[in-house]
Amino acid sequence: MSTGIELAKQGKCGICEEAVEHGPWTDEQIAEAVQDTGIEAFEDWCDQCLVTLCFDGDAKYAAKLLGRPVKAGFAALLGVRHG
Ligand SMILES: [Zn+2]
Repeated sequence: MSTGIELAKQGKCGICEEAVEHGPWTDEQIAEAVQDTGIEAFEDWCDQCLVTLCFDGDAKYAAKLLGRPVKAGFAALLGVRHG
């Protein structure tokens, strides 16, 4: 069992251990995600880490792709919404 999975079950980011948007994951949800992605080292990331690492700090772009507001950077302050 990886640390990332343990943290996800507690609703924590696999990188910084802040609360993730998804909340605590169940075994079933993790199993599904692993099946979907084919990545066994499952971990969830908080919005801040997601934006920083996957979207190059662009919270607006992240919100657009994720289809929801993200709690990171200036987007959190402005309450940026998709669409
Ligand atoms: Zn994080």
